[in-house]
Amino acid sequence: MRLAPENQVALEALRAACRVCRAVAAGSFDAVRKADASPVTIADFASQAVIVARLRAHLGEPVIIGEESADELRVDLDRLDAVVAAARVAWPDADRDGVLAAIDAGAQRPTHGPYWTLDPIDGTKGFLRREQYAVCLARVDGDAPVVGLLGCPNLPRDPSRGVDRADAEGSVYVVEADGPVFELGVDDDAAREVPRAGAIGNEITATVSVESGHTKLDHVDAILRHLGRPSRTIRCDSQAKYALVARGQAHVYLRVPTDPTRVELVWDHAAGAVIAARTGMRVTDLRGAPLDFSAPPRLAKNVGILCAHPGIHGELVDAIAALGFV
Ligand SMILES: [Mg+2]
Repeated sequence: MRLAPENQVALEALRAACRVCRAVAAGSFDAVRKADASPVTIADFASQAVIVARLRAHLGEPVIIGEESADELRVDLDRLDAVVAAARVAWPDADRDGVLAAIDAGAQRPTHGPYWTLDPIDGTKGFLRREQYAVCLARVDGDAPVVGLLGCPNLPRDPSRGVDRADAEGSVYVVEADGPVFELGVDDDAAREVPRAGAIGNEITATVSVESGHTKLDHVDAILRHLGRPSRTIRCDSQAKYALVARGQAHVYLRVPTDPTRVELVWDHAAGAVIAARTGMRVTDLRGAPLDFSAPPRLAKNVGILCAHPGIHGELVDAIAALGFV
């Protein structure tokens, strides 16, 4: 596997952040609620700090649109010190000022132009359950991601081992430009090329969120029934779902908004979407329209997510329209 130098920097930053998350998960920690009621842990902050600091050390001052900001750490110094301690797993001379500056440099909010987007822990609830979560970094140019890096520290590389338990090695996926998707471990450098989509049989495997607040599970069931094919479902947190589709473990990832006014955020999809797309999957919204990442931080032109094998994507778009879900 040979990557452009800036993408190799991004990959090593992402793997370092995966080690930080794993070290936090091995100890005891709690979560606090953000203004939108979603949980955040010291690992979310430390992961963002480590990745942004590395990118800035090697790539100058890139535009980075990350999920977290340092505001709440400035007023909770005990928590800040816990974040600094966590970051030191991968950034030995991290200190308060450096960590705060890195987190804030990763919370830029331009509304256009090329950018990196970062979800330092996607699926924090999965992280809290010691199940699946992902560290997600992507480079967007124009309306689409062109580089994708997805770290899944608890996802076994062997698909026969299931997703409901934390794996010791984990999986990392990376793609750049029009190259193949590579899979390696968090610590294991041995990379393999993920094969492109093969033929599809009659039975469909879908992957959906564990959290019922993220997707209308009864609508997903109705869509699968409408196909008239036998189907099964894998519940999985985070953008690890895109990895399951990219590597052929599932044929479809569906996200049907529970709230029709909900608009998806770029960092929740950019990395996974380009990785699945480069293995030949079709990644669109529920109407079949391409995802448009040109106006961060939201996918304002899109409704929901449909990532599917090309042999079933059209049937799914038709089913969703026939059921009146868009
Ligand atoms: Mg997150």
